[in-house]
Amino acid sequence: MDQIQIGKFIAVCRKAQGLTQAQLAEQLNITDRAVSKWETGRSLPDAALMLPLCGILKIDLNELFCGRRIEMENYKEIAEKNLLEMKQREEQYNKHMLRAMYVFGFTGIAASLALMIGGAYVAEYSDLNALAIVLIVLGAVMLIPTIIYAMILEHAAGYYACKECGERFTVSIWKMTFAPHFGTTRYMRCPHCGKRGWQKKVMTKD
Ligand SMILES: [Zn+2]
Repeated sequence: MDQIQIGKFIAVCRKAQGLTQAQLAEQLNITDRAVSKWETGRSLPDAALMLPLCGILKIDLNELFCGRRIEMENYKEIAEKNLLEMKQREEQYNKHMLRAMYVFGFTGIAASLALMIGGAYVAEYSDLNALAIVLIVLGAVMLIPTIIYAMILEHAAGYYACKECGERFTVSIWKMTFAPHFGTTRYMRCPHCGKRGWQKKVMTKD
């Protein structure tokens, strides 16, 4: 319970009823100093006074304890709206990650291939064998960070949906990397039902 919040709420409700601190105090048969102490959050109303106070302020006990009006309809609506917004934000983020993975992955692989093809070309049409080896090795070595980074991005983006039980799950980046794949669909064991299958990438948890 937030005493300050409750105090502010009492003050708001009292004013809404058109009462002064003294008038409220009089109705409850207490001093206006006690009302002032509630409203500044220095004390809470005695348990015995809570129901009469709620009656005068036209609120219920739950609202008094929360220090705000509770309207169930609105409450549900607000909660759902927040949830939807969070979901959309997550979806956006995951899509962005996946796009980054494709762009980075394809660029990296294309650059690696260009270096290796360049190396093969040099080896074929010139005597610069050392240069050819450097180009080919460089191209091959570049593949490693490209793949690692692409795996990190793919792993960060979304979840896998099990075809058998419908559960959406994540796996370790290690398991993901070594699972056979077709695009981002990977052949893995579902951690929930234990069945193996081609698990499709999805952007949200449900
Ligand atoms: Zn499953």
